[in-house]
Amino acid sequence: MGKNLMSESSDTIFGKIIRREIPADIVYEDNLCLAFRDVNPQAPVHVLIIPKEPIAKLADAESQHHALMGHLLLTVKRVAEQLELSKGYRVVINTGADGGQTVYHLHLHLLGGRSLQWPPG
Ligand code: 5GP
Repeated sequence: MGKNLMSESSDTIFGKIIRREIPADIVYEDNLCLAFRDVNPQAPVHVLIIPKEPIAKLADAESQHHALMGHLLLTVKRVAEQLELSKGYRVVINTGADGGQTVYHLHLHLLGGRSLQWPPG
């Protein structure tokens, strides 16, 4: 596909991670999703949980993604337990330009390992 034909939902760096075209520190994987450490961590634990289906952003999710959305959230819980975040953690989905999204492949940030402030910037 020509560059000018690429849309938000076209391939991203996360697609390359799913296909193992670029390396990532993967902490969990199943048939629907992948979890790997953020390359620029904002907390001692900063993991991204992504669906293998390249949904660009939360605003693009549809009713057909109902079960997948629940699976992603339960995967956050599973990874948090795996990484022993027993004191708590934060889950963030940046969506669109005002949400601060920079990679247009839906992802959930799992942040933990320190006390987090509220509200975020
Ligand atoms: P967003 O700002 O879209 O919510 O979050 C994108 C996240 O992806 C950022 O926290 C950024 O550090 C992370 N990221 C961007 N490129 C890569 C990469 O190539 N590998 C990994 N592991 N994380 C990345």
